[in-house]
Amino acid sequence: MEKIQLKAMGKINLGLDILGKREDGYHDVRMVMQTVYLYDNVTLVQTGRAGIEIRTNLFYLPVDENNLAYKAAKLLTDEFGITEGIQIVLDKRIPVSAGMAGGSADAAAVLFGMNRLFGLGLSDAALRERGVKLGADVPYCIMRGTYLAEGIGEVLTELPQCQRCYVLLAKPSVNVSTRVVYERFDRLSHVEHPDIDGIIGGLRGHDLLQVSSCLGNVLEKVTAEAYPVIEQIKDTMKKNGALNALMSGSGPTVFGLFDDKKAAKKAAFRIRELQLARQTYVTGVHNTRRR
Ligand code: ATP
Repeated sequence: MEKIQLKAMGKINLGLDILGKREDGYHDVRMVMQTVYLYDNVTLVQTGRAGIEIRTNLFYLPVDENNLAYKAAKLLTDEFGITEGIQIVLDKRIPVSAGMAGGSADAAAVLFGMNRLFGLGLSDAALRERGVKLGADVPYCIMRGTYLAEGIGEVLTELPQCQRCYVLLAKPSVNVSTRVVYERFDRLSHVEHPDIDGIIGGLRGHDLLQVSSCLGNVLEKVTAEAYPVIEQIKDTMKKNGALNALMSGSGPTVFGLFDDKKAAKKAAFRIRELQLARQTYVTGVHNTRRR
Protein backbone atom coordinates (compact mmCIF):
# COMPACT_ATOMS: atom_id res chain seq x y z
CA MET A 1 0.00 0.00 0.00
CA GLU A 2 1.59 3.25 -1.18
CA LYS A 3 1.53 6.27 1.06
CA ILE A 4 2.82 9.83 0.85
CA GLN A 5 3.15 12.44 3.62
CA LEU A 6 3.10 16.16 2.88
CA LYS A 7 3.21 19.47 4.69
CA ALA A 8 0.48 21.85 3.51
CA MET A 9 1.86 25.25 4.47
CA GLY A 10 -0.17 28.30 5.38
CA LYS A 11 0.38 31.78 3.94
CA ILE A 12 0.25 35.38 4.99
CA ASN A 13 -0.27 38.39 2.76
CA LEU A 14 2.53 40.92 3.14
CA GLY A 15 0.37 43.03 0.85
CA LEU A 16 -3.18 42.69 -0.43
CA ASP A 17 -4.69 45.15 -2.89
CA ILE A 18 -7.90 44.89 -4.89
CA LEU A 19 -7.96 46.62 -8.23
CA GLY A 20 -11.59 46.05 -9.14
CA LYS A 21 -14.48 43.65 -9.47
CA ARG A 22 -14.86 41.59 -12.61
CA GLU A 23 -18.09 40.74 -14.38
CA ASP A 24 -17.86 37.12 -13.24
CA GLY A 25 -17.93 38.30 -9.60
CA TYR A 26 -14.23 37.65 -8.91
CA HIS A 27 -11.94 40.49 -7.86
CA ASP A 28 -8.75 41.50 -9.63
CA VAL A 29 -6.07 41.47 -6.96
CA ARG A 30 -2.43 42.36 -6.45
CA MET A 31 -1.06 40.42 -3.50
CA VAL A 32 2.36 39.66 -2.08
CA MET A 33 2.12 36.12 -0.76
CA GLN A 34 4.50 34.60 1.77
CA THR A 35 4.55 31.01 3.04
CA VAL A 36 4.90 30.57 6.79
CA TYR A 37 6.10 27.51 8.67
CA LEU A 38 2.72 26.55 10.07
CA TYR A 39 1.31 23.54 8.29
CA ASP A 40 -1.32 20.86 8.10
CA ASN A 41 0.02 17.31 7.84
CA VAL A 42 -1.59 15.73 4.81
CA THR A 43 -1.21 11.97 4.31
CA LEU A 44 -2.40 10.21 1.17
CA VAL A 45 -2.86 6.45 1.34
CA GLN A 46 -3.84 4.12 -1.48
CA THR A 47 -6.61 2.01 0.03
CA GLY A 48 -7.14 -0.75 -2.51
CA ARG A 49 -10.90 -0.11 -2.38
CA ALA A 50 -12.76 2.39 -4.55
CA GLY A 51 -13.61 5.93 -3.46
CA ILE A 52 -12.18 9.00 -1.76
CA GLU A 53 -12.19 9.02 2.05
CA ILE A 54 -11.30 11.99 4.26
CA ARG A 55 -10.26 11.73 7.90
CA THR A 56 -9.53 14.80 9.97
CA ASN A 57 -8.84 15.79 13.57
CA LEU A 58 -11.40 18.64 13.36
CA PHE A 59 -14.91 17.27 13.83
CA TYR A 60 -16.57 20.33 12.29
CA LEU A 61 -14.88 20.11 8.91
CA PRO A 62 -16.77 18.47 6.05
CA VAL A 63 -15.43 15.07 4.96
CA ASP A 64 -17.40 14.94 1.71
CA GLU A 65 -17.21 16.86 -1.57
CA ASN A 66 -17.40 20.11 0.43
CA ASN A 67 -13.86 19.56 1.63
CA LEU A 68 -11.36 21.20 -0.73
CA ALA A 69 -9.00 18.23 -0.36
CA TYR A 70 -11.81 15.90 -1.51
CA LYS A 71 -12.54 18.20 -4.47
CA ALA A 72 -8.85 18.11 -5.47
CA ALA A 73 -8.77 14.30 -5.35
CA LYS A 74 -12.05 14.04 -7.29
CA LEU A 75 -10.79 16.37 -10.01
CA LEU A 76 -7.76 14.15 -10.73
CA THR A 77 -9.63 10.88 -10.21
CA ASP A 78 -12.26 11.87 -12.79
CA GLU A 79 -9.84 13.32 -15.31
CA PHE A 80 -7.40 10.40 -15.23
CA GLY A 81 -9.94 7.63 -14.64
CA ILE A 82 -8.18 6.57 -11.43
CA THR A 83 -10.07 3.54 -10.11
CA GLU A 84 -7.84 2.94 -7.09
CA GLY A 85 -9.29 4.44 -3.91
CA ILE A 86 -7.50 6.97 -1.75
CA GLN A 87 -7.68 7.99 1.89
CA ILE A 88 -6.70 11.57 2.77
CA VAL A 89 -5.77 12.19 6.39
CA LEU A 90 -5.82 15.89 7.33
CA ASP A 91 -4.10 16.74 10.58
CA LYS A 92 -5.21 20.38 10.66
CA ARG A 93 -3.02 22.95 12.42
CA ILE A 94 -3.53 26.00 10.23
CA PRO A 95 -6.45 27.94 11.77
CA VAL A 96 -9.66 27.43 9.77
CA SER A 97 -11.49 30.35 8.08
CA ALA A 98 -8.65 32.55 9.19
CA GLY A 99 -7.20 34.20 6.07
CA MET A 100 -4.29 31.76 5.89
CA ALA A 101 -5.53 29.63 2.96
CA GLY A 102 -5.54 26.40 4.95
CA GLY A 103 -8.11 24.71 2.72
CA SER A 104 -6.27 25.82 -0.42
CA ALA A 105 -2.99 24.49 0.98
CA ASP A 106 -4.61 21.09 1.61
CA ALA A 107 -6.02 21.03 -1.93
CA ALA A 108 -2.59 21.95 -3.35
CA ALA A 109 -0.95 19.16 -1.32
CA VAL A 110 -3.48 16.62 -2.63
CA LEU A 111 -2.89 17.67 -6.27
CA PHE A 112 0.87 17.54 -5.75
CA GLY A 113 0.76 14.24 -3.85
CA MET A 114 -1.61 12.40 -6.20
CA ASN A 115 0.50 13.49 -9.17
CA ARG A 116 3.42 11.68 -7.51
CA LEU A 117 1.48 8.71 -6.10
CA PHE A 118 -0.24 7.83 -9.38
CA GLY A 119 2.63 8.92 -11.66
CA LEU A 120 0.40 11.34 -13.61
CA GLY A 121 3.37 13.28 -14.98
CA LEU A 122 1.75 16.70 -14.60
CA SER A 123 4.06 19.73 -14.65
CA ASP A 124 3.72 22.51 -12.06
CA ALA A 125 1.94 24.62 -14.68
CA ALA A 126 -0.51 21.79 -15.37
CA LEU A 127 -1.13 21.38 -11.63
CA ARG A 128 -1.74 25.13 -11.29
CA GLU A 129 -4.26 25.07 -14.15
CA ARG A 130 -6.22 22.43 -12.29
CA GLY A 131 -5.73 24.14 -8.95
CA VAL A 132 -7.37 27.40 -9.97
CA LYS A 133 -10.60 25.49 -10.64
CA LEU A 134 -10.66 24.73 -6.91
CA GLY A 135 -9.79 28.19 -5.59
CA ALA A 136 -7.87 31.35 -6.47
CA ASP A 137 -5.14 30.69 -3.85
CA VAL A 138 -4.52 27.05 -4.84
CA PRO A 139 -2.01 27.80 -7.67
CA TYR A 140 0.12 29.80 -5.23
CA CYS A 141 -0.12 27.06 -2.60
CA ILE A 142 1.25 24.62 -5.18
CA MET A 143 4.32 26.84 -5.64
CA ARG A 144 4.96 28.29 -2.15
CA GLY A 145 7.58 30.88 -1.17
CA THR A 146 7.38 34.59 -2.01
CA TYR A 147 5.21 35.52 -5.01
CA LEU A 148 3.28 38.41 -6.49
CA ALA A 149 -0.20 37.08 -7.25
CA GLU A 150 -2.32 38.96 -9.77
CA GLY A 151 -5.42 38.24 -11.84
CA ILE A 152 -7.76 36.52 -9.38
CA GLY A 153 -4.61 35.27 -7.64
CA GLU A 154 -3.50 32.75 -10.25
CA VAL A 155 -1.05 34.92 -12.24
CA LEU A 156 2.16 34.34 -10.31
CA THR A 157 5.48 36.17 -10.48
CA GLU A 158 8.32 34.87 -8.36
CA LEU A 159 9.81 37.48 -6.02
CA PRO A 160 13.11 37.46 -4.08
CA GLN A 161 12.79 35.49 -0.87
CA CYS A 162 11.71 37.39 2.21
CA GLN A 163 14.52 37.86 4.69
CA ARG A 164 14.50 35.48 7.63
CA CYS A 165 12.42 36.80 10.48
CA TYR A 166 10.01 35.59 13.14
CA VAL A 167 6.31 35.67 12.44
CA LEU A 168 3.81 35.85 15.27
CA LEU A 169 0.36 34.69 14.19
CA ALA A 170 -2.66 35.44 16.37
CA LYS A 171 -6.12 34.20 15.47
CA PRO A 172 -8.85 35.87 17.54
CA SER A 173 -11.98 33.83 18.30
CA VAL A 174 -14.25 35.57 15.82
CA ASN A 175 -15.72 34.10 12.67
CA VAL A 176 -15.16 36.05 9.52
CA SER A 177 -16.93 35.25 6.27
CA THR A 178 -14.68 35.98 3.28
CA ARG A 179 -17.78 36.59 1.13
CA VAL A 180 -19.19 39.19 3.54
CA VAL A 181 -15.82 40.98 3.81
CA TYR A 182 -15.62 41.30 0.01
CA GLU A 183 -19.25 42.48 -0.18
CA ARG A 184 -18.54 45.20 2.40
CA PHE A 185 -15.37 46.14 0.56
CA ASP A 186 -17.39 46.56 -2.68
CA ARG A 187 -19.61 49.10 -0.93
CA LEU A 188 -16.72 51.33 0.23
CA SER A 189 -16.74 54.76 -1.37
CA HIS A 190 -13.03 55.38 -0.78
CA VAL A 191 -10.18 52.89 -0.79
CA GLU A 192 -6.63 53.53 0.38
CA HIS A 193 -4.40 51.27 -1.65
CA PRO A 194 -1.36 49.70 0.02
CA ASP A 195 2.13 50.23 -1.36
CA ILE A 196 2.60 46.86 -3.05
CA ASP A 197 5.54 48.19 -5.12
CA GLY A 198 7.19 49.35 -1.88
CA ILE A 199 7.00 45.79 -0.52
CA ILE A 200 8.43 44.39 -3.76
CA GLY A 201 11.21 47.02 -3.65
CA GLY A 202 11.99 46.00 -0.07
CA LEU A 203 12.18 42.33 -1.08
CA ARG A 204 14.45 43.12 -4.01
CA GLY A 205 16.73 45.18 -1.73
CA HIS A 206 16.66 42.47 1.00
CA ASP A 207 15.44 45.23 3.29
CA LEU A 208 13.16 43.78 5.95
CA LEU A 209 12.54 47.20 7.46
CA GLN A 210 11.22 48.54 4.16
CA VAL A 211 9.05 45.44 3.65
CA SER A 212 7.70 45.86 7.18
CA SER A 213 7.00 49.57 6.79
CA CYS A 214 5.00 48.96 3.57
CA LEU A 215 2.78 46.11 4.85
CA GLY A 216 -0.81 46.83 3.85
CA ASN A 217 -4.13 45.05 3.30
CA VAL A 218 -7.08 46.79 1.72
CA LEU A 219 -9.50 44.40 3.46
CA GLU A 220 -8.17 45.14 6.93
CA LYS A 221 -10.29 48.24 7.49
CA VAL A 222 -13.47 46.33 6.59
CA THR A 223 -12.85 43.42 8.95
CA ALA A 224 -11.35 45.58 11.71
CA GLU A 225 -14.43 47.81 11.71
CA ALA A 226 -16.55 44.79 12.61
CA TYR A 227 -13.95 43.32 15.00
CA PRO A 228 -11.95 45.93 17.02
CA VAL A 229 -9.88 43.06 18.46
CA ILE A 230 -7.85 43.15 15.23
CA GLU A 231 -6.50 46.65 15.97
CA GLN A 232 -5.92 45.65 19.60
CA ILE A 233 -3.80 42.68 18.53
CA LYS A 234 -1.85 44.83 16.07
CA ASP A 235 -1.18 47.44 18.79
CA THR A 236 -0.07 44.80 21.25
CA MET A 237 2.33 43.30 18.73
CA LYS A 238 3.82 46.71 17.88
CA LYS A 239 4.14 47.74 21.53
CA ASN A 240 6.00 44.49 22.16
CA GLY A 241 8.67 44.80 19.49
CA ALA A 242 7.03 43.92 16.15
CA LEU A 243 8.59 45.71 13.18
CA ASN A 244 5.00 45.96 11.97
CA ALA A 245 1.74 43.99 12.08
CA LEU A 246 -1.13 43.36 9.65
CA MET A 247 -4.24 41.29 9.14
CA SER A 248 -3.80 38.43 6.66
CA GLY A 249 -6.27 37.83 3.79
CA SER A 250 -9.84 38.61 4.79
CA GLY A 251 -8.88 37.92 8.40
CA PRO A 252 -9.19 37.60 11.24
CA THR A 253 -5.62 36.28 11.72
CA VAL A 254 -3.13 39.06 12.48
CA PHE A 255 0.60 38.58 11.94
CA GLY A 256 3.54 40.53 13.27
CA LEU A 257 7.07 40.48 11.86
CA PHE A 258 9.85 40.38 14.47
CA ASP A 259 13.63 40.27 14.24
CA ASP A 260 13.82 38.97 17.81
CA LYS A 261 12.31 35.62 18.83
CA LYS A 262 12.08 36.52 22.52
CA ALA A 263 10.06 39.64 21.71
CA ALA A 264 7.72 37.59 19.50
CA LYS A 265 7.16 35.11 22.34
CA LYS A 266 6.55 37.90 24.82
CA ALA A 267 4.03 39.54 22.49
CA ALA A 268 2.25 36.19 22.10
CA PHE A 269 2.11 35.82 25.87
CA ARG A 270 0.72 39.33 26.27
CA ILE A 271 -1.95 38.73 23.58
CA ARG A 272 -3.12 35.60 25.39
CA GLU A 273 -2.92 37.33 28.78
CA LEU A 274 -5.17 40.13 27.49
CA GLN A 275 -7.46 37.43 26.04
CA LEU A 276 -7.28 38.96 22.59
CA ALA A 277 -6.59 35.57 20.99
CA ARG A 278 -6.27 32.02 22.23
CA GLN A 279 -4.52 30.69 19.14
CA THR A 280 -1.02 32.17 18.83
CA TYR A 281 1.97 30.76 17.00
CA VAL A 282 5.56 31.96 16.84
CA THR A 283 6.95 30.71 13.57
CA GLY A 284 8.98 31.94 10.62
CA VAL A 285 8.78 32.65 6.92
CA HIS A 286 9.30 29.50 4.86
CA ASN A 287 11.24 29.96 1.66
CA THR A 288 11.90 26.49 0.30
CA ARG A 289 9.90 26.05 -2.84
CA ARG A 290 8.16 22.78 -3.52
CA ARG A 291 10.97 21.17 -5.52
P1 ATP B 1 -8.51 32.09 2.56
O1 ATP B 1 -7.27 32.64 3.18
O2 ATP B 1 -8.29 31.47 1.19
O3 ATP B 1 -9.69 33.03 2.61
P2 ATP B 1 -9.37 30.78 4.87
O4 ATP B 1 -8.18 30.63 5.75
O5 ATP B 1 -10.24 31.96 5.14
O6 ATP B 1 -8.90 30.80 3.38
P3 ATP B 1 -9.98 27.98 4.97
O7 ATP B 1 -9.52 27.59 6.32
O8 ATP B 1 -9.13 27.62 3.81
O9 ATP B 1 -10.30 29.56 4.96
O10 ATP B 1 -11.44 27.39 4.69
C1 ATP B 1 -12.58 28.02 5.10
C2 ATP B 1 -13.84 27.21 4.78
O11 ATP B 1 -13.62 26.13 3.89
C3 ATP B 1 -14.45 26.62 6.03
O12 ATP B 1 -15.81 26.95 6.00
C4 ATP B 1 -14.26 25.13 5.92
O13 ATP B 1 -15.36 24.41 6.40
C5 ATP B 1 -14.10 24.90 4.43
N1 ATP B 1 -13.13 23.86 4.12
C6 ATP B 1 -13.25 22.95 3.16
N2 ATP B 1 -12.19 22.15 3.12
C7 ATP B 1 -11.32 22.56 4.07
C8 ATP B 1 -10.04 22.13 4.50
N3 ATP B 1 -9.42 21.11 3.94
N4 ATP B 1 -9.45 22.83 5.50
C9 ATP B 1 -10.07 23.90 6.05
N5 ATP B 1 -11.29 24.32 5.69
C10 ATP B 1 -11.92 23.68 4.70
